[in-house]
Amino acid sequence: LAALDSTAVAANAIALQQIAAPTFAEAPRAAEMHKRFSELGLADVSIDAIGNVLARLPGASATPVLVSAHLDSVFEGATDLTLRRDGCRITGPGIGDNALGLAGLLELARVLQCAKLQLPGDLWLAANVGEEGLGDLRGMRQLHARFGSQAIATIVLEGAAYGRVIHRAVGARRFRISAQTAGGHSWNDAGLPSAIHELVRCAGQLMQMQLSTEPLVTLNIGRISGGTSINSIAGHAQLELDLRSEDSALLENAALQAEAIISSMPAKSGVKLTCEECGNRPTGAIAAHHPLPQLALVALKHVGHAGGQLCASSTDANIPLSAGCAAVCIGLCSGGNAHRMEEFIDTSTLAAGLAQLLLVVRGAFDIPVHQAA
Ligand SMILES: [Zn+2]
Repeated sequence: LAALDSTAVAANAIALQQIAAPTFAEAPRAAEMHKRFSELGLADVSIDAIGNVLARLPGASATPVLVSAHLDSVFEGATDLTLRRDGCRITGPGIGDNALGLAGLLELARVLQCAKLQLPGDLWLAANVGEEGLGDLRGMRQLHARFGSQAIATIVLEGAAYGRVIHRAVGARRFRISAQTAGGHSWNDAGLPSAIHELVRCAGQLMQMQLSTEPLVTLNIGRISGGTSINSIAGHAQLELDLRSEDSALLENAALQAEAIISSMPAKSGVKLTCEECGNRPTGAIAAHHPLPQLALVALKHVGHAGGQLCASSTDANIPLSAGCAAVCIGLCSGGNAHRMEEFIDTSTLAAGLAQLLLVVRGAFDIPVHQAA
């Protein structure tokens, strides 16, 4: 534990944050991770068919533990990635989510490599694509297809979630709803149907949906776009709808309700309303008393965090959890404002977070293989 270098981890997080990595355009940051894994002397450093970067730290047996951190960030390629430093606080888009997670992955590999201590099994490290936005967990789906049933555990790293042990997956169903009309001039063609007006009517209906509060089901229209100009009748418009819950039946029900609303919008001539599903993050969980979340809580206590919390979230861990496999998502330091330009990390907790990670990884190899979820 003494070999952990939180200053170097913060510096690596900054270097990785400076490489833009929007979902579906993670390649430059992936290339950097490939380079770093190679420099650390890891085995089987490679980039798979969809862009996940993989490396292996050979252990005594082949039974692996998988540790992952997502490469992508919610910010578009043109985003100003300038950082501000103020004591322990580093502020800038994507620093915690998930440049720091990637830096943690590198530090884990470095420390274990330097310690020359052989783990009981192979440790696979993965910097994966497609966690944010419309990535629909495609990177983790690929990793799970490759390791899922053999891995003792999957440990997912999120930079700024220190103190949280995510062992329950919040599922999501996502839809893109589009409206199309012939458009026109706002005065000369007044009375012709507008794609925006139709879409907004539909959005109004969706917002009237009666949703459960316990267990919670949420509805969010996260993006709406369309139209040509203020003085044009809009010819096209679209919105993105995100429904979430930990309860798979309630989530399914909400998705059916939304689809019913869309298909029951009064058919108007000249209006084409379509709906396509653009994301489906499955629900799932392992019990609070499962050895893996318990291990993470004990590790937090050991590094001085008495208030570790078991919680639910939507992360790459959804995929292994939905298949009943042992998985948790843990953080490396405290922070906030994720997915905003004012995103920050507080590195005063980083040394403890890294120590926790090392303890969880080492302990994961002692979990009985295929421990019932
Ligand atoms: Zn993240």
